[in-house]
Amino acid sequence: MPDALKVALLGCGAVGTQVVRLLAAQADDLAARVGAPLELVGVAVRSLDAERDPVVDPALLTTDAAALVTRADVVVELMGGLEPARSLLLSAIAHGASVVTANKALLAVDGPTLYAAADAAAVDLYFEAAVAGAVPVVRAVRESLAGDRVRRVLGIVNGTTNFVLDTMTADDVDLEVAVKDAQRLGYAEADPSADVEGLDAAAKAAILASLAFHTRVSLADVSCEGITALTADDVAWATRTGHVLKLLAVAERLDGGISVRVHPALVPVEHPLAGVRGAFNAVFVEAEAAGQLMFYGPGAGGVPTASAVLGDLVAAARHRVLGGRGPIESSYADLPVLPPAAAVSRFQVRLDVADRPGVLAQVAAALAGLGVSIEAVRQTPGPRDVGPAHLVISTHEATEAARAATVAALSALPVVDRVVSVLRVEGA
Ligand code: NAP
Repeated sequence: MPDALKVALLGCGAVGTQVVRLLAAQADDLAARVGAPLELVGVAVRSLDAERDPVVDPALLTTDAAALVTRADVVVELMGGLEPARSLLLSAIAHGASVVTANKALLAVDGPTLYAAADAAAVDLYFEAAVAGAVPVVRAVRESLAGDRVRRVLGIVNGTTNFVLDTMTADDVDLEVAVKDAQRLGYAEADPSADVEGLDAAAKAAILASLAFHTRVSLADVSCEGITALTADDVAWATRTGHVLKLLAVAERLDGGISVRVHPALVPVEHPLAGVRGAFNAVFVEAEAAGQLMFYGPGAGGVPTASAVLGDLVAAARHRVLGGRGPIESSYADLPVLPPAAAVSRFQVRLDVADRPGVLAQVAAALAGLGVSIEAVRQTPGPRDVGPAHLVISTHEATEAARAATVAALSALPVVDRVVSVLRVEGA
């Protein structure tokens, strides 16, 4: 067998410790699959004394990440954040190493710099774990669908928010209670803002859109609305109208460009994404030739994520032994990323209105003025047939600009007491 390949690990936290464990536990199988043994030559951390579970051989630990990356064939970055991760990966590439990273934040902000460096140095850059943890969706979109034309990607790519919305649905509780539950069970950070405000999902949306549409899409291109405004009432009405509320990452081809966004949406119960429960992730892809595909599984957690990292490591290492290269950046299509107002979806409006004849005609006229046509209306009478009635209006497809103008247009009608919510419907 050829000489061992030197592997350096940057970061040894939730994912890194499991990569170290699996590298040892599966050493023989990995060597057989790669065609050479994988030798872990060092693990860069911040603190040499921190407790690690499972325990990592202290002789491997170093705080000198800069030196470590210069003496490896493959560098695996699992520290997260923009710096020093970016500089260390660029240094590794400059020293001729192939790189594997799970760092969605870095890829979404500055992926092209890494791609360009890897391309110039003729080394691999793999990042399966950066989107949806163990779910092999990056490889599927980047490689398996390279011969197809992707129309749309709908993803539940943040397990924390999916767990929170699922808890709100199952237990009929408000967001705050569900977030506390998620924190108690280890599904949410002490500061859950990156998750509940949709930023984590937005980074993944940028990566998926770049791959699906062969276009550079960065985090700044993604319009992002989290789940913080959703109430137990919204969730209950979703159920009552045959939907499930999900935080979706959406990337789709429209006339004149692509739309990339993250927002809560009502998903019809019969859609495969509606059945994604708890902290699981799923990505639903619609491609011209392949049709509808769904990739589903654990989107986080040290052990599942380590599986995706090791898959990348095997691919990169095999190329070092047998020759060949992994995929390079494909941004030839260079499609314009359309402004948020251009996105198109159906939506559901809930409003309290005066319970008397002629109200619906006024509401319909106001919506028509925005270019929005009504598909169905459901009315619930007010208590004891007095007081406001509750209208639930489903619309046909309309632009995001029209949706955004709906609250003001309907609130201005004297017959409307209150516009309760205007939620997008996706996947219908
Ligand atoms: P983590 O538990 O916070 O671990 C980060 C590790 O990086 C720690 O070992 C830390 O050292 C080390 N580190 C951080 N800054 C460093 C620096 N400046 N120099 C040297 N070492 C440094 O993170 P994680 O959850 O394993 O996540 C790692 C990466 O995987 C992130 O990019 C994350 O987005 C991605 N990811 C994670 C998951 C998941 O379920 N956790 C899923 C998908 C993707 P110390 O231990 O000494 O503090």
